[in-house]
Amino acid sequence: GEHIDLAVINRAKDDKVKLVQLQFTDINGSVKAVTIPIEKFPESLEKGLWFDGSSIEGFTRICESDMFLKPDAGTYALLPWETVAVTARLFCDVYMPDGSPFEGDPRYILKRAIKNARDMNFEYNVGPELEFFLFKPKNDGAVAPTPHDVGSYFDFSPRDLAGNVRADIIFTLEKMGINVEMSHHEVAPGQHEIDFKYAEALRTAENALTFKQVVKSIAHKHDLYATFMPKPIFGICGSGMHCHQSLFDIRTNTNIFFDENDTYKLSRNAKHFIAGQLEHVRAMSAILSPTVNSYKRLVPGYEAPVYICWGQKNRSALIRVPRYSPGREQATRAELRCPDPSNNPYLALAVMLEAGLDGIKRKLELPKATEENVYEFNKDELAYRNIATLPGSLGEALHELKQSALMKRALGSHTYQIYLHSKFSEWDEYRIQVTEWEQKKYLETT
Ligand code: GLN
Ligand code: MG
Ligand code: MG
Ligand code: MG
Repeated sequence: GEHIDLAVINRAKDDKVKLVQLQFTDINGSVKAVTIPIEKFPESLEKGLWFDGSSIEGFTRICESDMFLKPDAGTYALLPWETVAVTARLFCDVYMPDGSPFEGDPRYILKRAIKNARDMNFEYNVGPELEFFLFKPKNDGAVAPTPHDVGSYFDFSPRDLAGNVRADIIFTLEKMGINVEMSHHEVAPGQHEIDFKYAEALRTAENALTFKQVVKSIAHKHDLYATFMPKPIFGICGSGMHCHQSLFDIRTNTNIFFDENDTYKLSRNAKHFIAGQLEHVRAMSAILSPTVNSYKRLVPGYEAPVYICWGQKNRSALIRVPRYSPGREQATRAELRCPDPSNNPYLALAVMLEAGLDGIKRKLELPKATEENVYEFNKDELAYRNIATLPGSLGEALHELKQSALMKRALGSHTYQIYLHSKFSEWDEYRIQVTEWEQKKYLETT
């Protein structure tokens, strides 16, 4: 509305902003940006900013390439690492020439899912845990997976540079309005995690996009580079983006996942929601874990999920329901552990939400909890308990996506088709590679 627009223009004035970055994402979740001088900002808020969408991955249309961006005033933040001129950024909605929303805009796809939830009086809250590696570039500046420290889980060492880098990241996130809850060294050398406060899904998706920009920019400032590649090195842990999720009733602003009479303190709708995600997880895998490399992370032994089951205690389960403690009713939640930070967070949260809502609509029955370490189950045990596995490769995940009516509806047919097409060609490109492993294995033995 006009009121907010004026407020954001005044805020930009107070902040002495010179440049404004208008951001949106392509289907892969890469942030795209158009920068305008501050003088053009009011007009962009009012009329939008025209651009050629034909070169954006996932946007291409044969006869329509002119689109326009409309910045969302509520997403205004300064980019603290821009040193040449004070720069603000805003996330944008993408529109067609006739003024209708572009159905391939990932932000629009998430907003549509959120609207579906609101029609059922639900607000979808998500708190993600993004893990990443800090690596040292080579002397010539080329990237190589060389961990920048030797720390491990929760290590504390005051002389370690990583502590300073994390502190710098946290400080920058706070400046941008993202509340950090905790940060720590992760299991692998060079691996870290910084968690920020949960929020409504659209805000969280954008916090995740901002987070990645901050981590990369601050790492660069410290002569390091940060990667969110799911499994950068064989034999050590990969990086996940676990998502803690709950539904609030929009009328009472209370968590509807909580029921004090249940053993797990989970309501019927919480159980249906989890059952829906278990049912659709193979179909949504290609969105949550979207790269060839994602499936190298989803293997036994590294605290990443493989088996489709849920539980309370065990971190080998796909969905973990953290144990209830008194006074924590509003924190009742389900932690989905398969997503990784190479996904497009708008699309990931959209399909996760639709899968959960489908479980609620169809009143899907939640299977019994699995509390044992599933990594140790053999085939018979898994079959006996009816436990299926996540797709073992991007190719397998794409075949599952291809068969899912729910995913087609959640993504919209435009994005669904383009995504399948683009990801199948990524898979084919990988499929024909001859790897170092194969040469070592077969050159002499065949
Ligand atoms: N790095 C693990 C993963 O890939 C998670 C480790 C943890 O947070 N306990 O999901
Ligand atoms: Mg964590
Ligand atoms: Mg972690
Ligand atoms: Mg976790």
